[in-house]
Amino acid sequence: MPKSRTQLKKLPTPTQERTVVIVKPDGVKRGLVGEIIRRFEQRGLKAVALEMFSATKDQIDGHYPKAEAWITRLGTKTLDTYNQYKIDPKKELGTADPFAIGSKVRGWLLDYMTSGPMVKMIVEGIHAIDMVRKICGHTLPNKAEMGTIRGDYSVDSPAAANRDQRGIHNLVHASETPEEANHEIEYWFSPEDVYEYKRAEEDIMF
Ligand code: UDP
Ligand code: MG
Repeated sequence: MPKSRTQLKKLPTPTQERTVVIVKPDGVKRGLVGEIIRRFEQRGLKAVALEMFSATKDQIDGHYPKAEAWITRLGTKTLDTYNQYKIDPKKELGTADPFAIGSKVRGWLLDYMTSGPMVKMIVEGIHAIDMVRKICGHTLPNKAEMGTIRGDYSVDSPAAANRDQRGIHNLVHASETPEEANHEIEYWFSPEDVYEYKRAEEDIMF
């Protein structure tokens, strides 16, 4: 098989994308792997790679961005909930600086993502990156809409997770941008992990 099989540009139309989904350790331990995959399949998105694995902290460190802007955004997500529920970040975490909070959260995230086996997959389809994000719902389960994976099956919040010094248990990871998707596909998969096939309903749906 050619190496280019993982490349987006080889897909038939510009609207066809590939994105990475990872069922996190809480999703696996709660027996939600099938339910999570079902929701993507039901929408008409196609799994083209799928595997159970466990990751090292170094691997997770390379999976998530290290850019200051990304870490600051992580801290801002915590601060949004703190503002909403009138929690004082200085009292809880010793700082109100989003980058400092984001750095703590990123460390806890590495512990969470190495706390058990996970399931990784590449999902392919029209606007797959955005569609998958919608199906997953808001990062923070306390803000996630009903009908999304995180909204239907999780109840965690930064207010609870930070107090316990742990990552937010939100069941699933999904790439956010084409750049993240490309990085994660190359990072977690080899070309021979990816399968091309036609789903029965493709002729009718598209
Ligand atoms: N996270 C956390 N506390 C926060 C914000 C995020 O523990 O205040 C964790 C959560 O598990 C999330 C991950 O960090 O899924 C990565 O954060 P990101 O902002 O990229 O959210 P995602 O893309 O997963 O929705
Ligand atoms: Mg993200």
